[in-house]
Amino acid sequence: MPVCMVQRNEGVVTRISLVEAAAGGPGRVFGESSGAGKGKGKGLRVVPLRPVGDVVAAAIVPGALAESAALNGVPLAEGLHLLRHADRLTMSGQQYWIAVQPTVEEVDFSPDIHGEDAFCFLTKARLGTGDRIVVCPGKPGVPCGAIYKADAWELAMRPESGLKCLRCGFHPSQTQWEPPKARERIQLDALYQLASQRES
Ligand SMILES: [Zn+2]
Repeated sequence: MPVCMVQRNEGVVTRISLVEAAAGGPGRVFGESSGAGKGKGKGLRVVPLRPVGDVVAAAIVPGALAESAALNGVPLAEGLHLLRHADRLTMSGQQYWIAVQPTVEEVDFSPDIHGEDAFCFLTKARLGTGDRIVVCPGKPGVPCGAIYKADAWELAMRPESGLKCLRCGFHPSQTQWEPPKARERIQLDALYQLASQRES
């Protein structure tokens, strides 16, 4: 699943893909120091990883930037740090969230790849070589893999049908993950406060 970094500035959400090649290799480099001498050109590098559990990317922090970058509010030491979906990275006063963006792709069914004796998860129709299918990507950290006939998937995922993946609950409208709004966080805090007052 593609991984990106999401920023929210005054209500505007920006997505920075980590897959596009950036100068100097895979991933993206942030906070590159421009001065001459030691540490020149050494920025914090964020690289997408093949997901292992809920780990989806890594941050490589050079010595020059140690302690000036933070992960979920905790200063980062020099070295490699694993990143998970919805982690928050702070670098030179900017906030970025790591996000997995599930993508839905239509492909041809092939028994070699998708298995002999496969059936559409929705219609239960047997699948044959060359049938157009969709493999449900699942949610961040919860891969799904349910196979649907492409036309059945398309019908089921129309907003008016109210359906979601029958196995994992994924819906294509969920692909655009957004960081929590500052106001939502404040409201949540207020709710917690109210709840604790009622209890006492
Ligand atoms: Zn699913």
